[in-house]
Amino acid sequence: MSTPPSQHALWHGRAADLLARGIDGRLLIDGQRYHAVDGRCFDSVSPLDGKVIARVARAQAADAELAVASARAAFADGRWSARSPAARKKVLLAFAERVRAARDELALLETLDMGKPIAASLSADVPGAARCIQWYAEAVDKVYGEIAPTGPDALALVSREPVGVVAAIVPWNYPLLMTAWKIAPALAAGNSVVLKPSERSPLSALRLAELALDAGLPPGVLNVLPGYGNEAGEALALHMDVDAVGFTGSTRTGRLMLEYAGRSNLKRVYNELGGKSANLVFDDFDDLDRAAATAAGSMFYNQGESCNAPSRLLVQESIADAFVERLAALAPGYAPGDPLDPETRMGALVDERHTALVMDYIRSGRAQGARCVAGGEQVRQDSGGQFVAPTVFDGVGNDMRIAREEIFGPVLSVIRFRDEEHALRIANDSSYGLHAAVWTRNLDRAVRVARALRAGTVHVNQYDDDDITVPFGGVKQSGNGRDKSLHALDKYSELKTTWMRIEAR
Ligand code: NAD
Repeated sequence: MSTPPSQHALWHGRAADLLARGIDGRLLIDGQRYHAVDGRCFDSVSPLDGKVIARVARAQAADAELAVASARAAFADGRWSARSPAARKKVLLAFAERVRAARDELALLETLDMGKPIAASLSADVPGAARCIQWYAEAVDKVYGEIAPTGPDALALVSREPVGVVAAIVPWNYPLLMTAWKIAPALAAGNSVVLKPSERSPLSALRLAELALDAGLPPGVLNVLPGYGNEAGEALALHMDVDAVGFTGSTRTGRLMLEYAGRSNLKRVYNELGGKSANLVFDDFDDLDRAAATAAGSMFYNQGESCNAPSRLLVQESIADAFVERLAALAPGYAPGDPLDPETRMGALVDERHTALVMDYIRSGRAQGARCVAGGEQVRQDSGGQFVAPTVFDGVGNDMRIAREEIFGPVLSVIRFRDEEHALRIANDSSYGLHAAVWTRNLDRAVRVARALRAGTVHVNQYDDDDITVPFGGVKQSGNGRDKSLHALDKYSELKTTWMRIEAR
């Protein structure tokens, strides 16, 4: 009697089937798949093994022109923008269901394209994207306008209108989720969208847009332009007929987005950028095992390629040795494995260039005098893929490169502090301000520190809680605007005031 194939073998089989069928890398404009105008393509290389998994259209300015024209025409004739919120809701709910039904395919595309473990794609990324789309669908027919309290001789209405054509430009670390965080509120609010996925992870976005069409989203309302940032991305961000850019990516590119807006039509720019989040552990916190497990788990999740990863661990001197010992013991539990094995907790970095960057940071940490207590090397090199061991540096100074710059890989920097004032000074001494955490049993301290930390989100005695109901975004050079929650609708709506004169009888 033959034994059933392992889950690991099953996912390899599914991946082989998907690749054998071929992945369509053409762009999507006005509901149709096209090659780029000039026919150019680029290879999508899997970080699992270095093999080419798709040829993808490399959109240029001419393609951006067509995509924006299609989005504008769709917006202007009202095929989506003029539908009632309840009608948009119906289509978006069907879209969310299609995403759920395509879970295995989307999860495979995500894992093959950017290297995250299949278990994470299946349990977090795909369901998270579906929930986001469903949540905005359900929300949009419950958002009311206002009547201003102006007095008896006038009626002043404050209503929300869609902005128009939105360019959504997204990164590669959570390709589906970041796309959903942009397109769901933008579409729910009645806009047309041109989506530019990262050149490092374009495949799931293309499939997602097909699912939206299947669900009844009219052609032209969601267009997808795969391609390079300095080609398709720049053309969109400079376009005179794009009304707003919802951008997630690096602070360097976010700076360019503001420049592009200034050089073109002053389009609204909402930047969700990088982070170097501080995780503060005080010696009055009694459950060091849980604090250490959370510090490691949140850092190494998604290979450390998370904007909000708690990459600066600030620990009070009196407990630092015990804490670092725990971290060094926990790190090997995140050793990278085959991303298609459902048991794997940490997968591959996105590509060879990124691995080289992460290894350069590890070298700089050593050169600047930090002590590597776990990891510090590339592993699984015989696979042909991109794998770096979970790495912990102790004795880090907040002036070192590994403390100041976003590494975006599995590298944790431990910085020791004396007291609360010292901890806050170090934590806030960063150009970033995305997330932060404080671990303490002292309620006064928890509130004091949470108030003083300059970050968009502060966690107390935990790090992982997250939900579509709360805003996500940063202060300082981590960006402006907020994704998720009802607040995200503000980015994709304009407020209109309508004054009406009421004549006395
Ligand atoms: P990136 O800035 O290199 O690229 C992001 C997107 O911008 C891609 O689609 C890219 O093609 C495009 N782009 C690049 N150069 C461009 C240009 N000159 N003009 C127009 N578009 C351009 O960032 P990345 O490496 O893809 O993503 C990682 C970054 O994203 C990290 O800094 C991370 O912290 C950040 N991030 C932030 C959040 C958040 O919510 N704050 C979430 C996820 C990722």
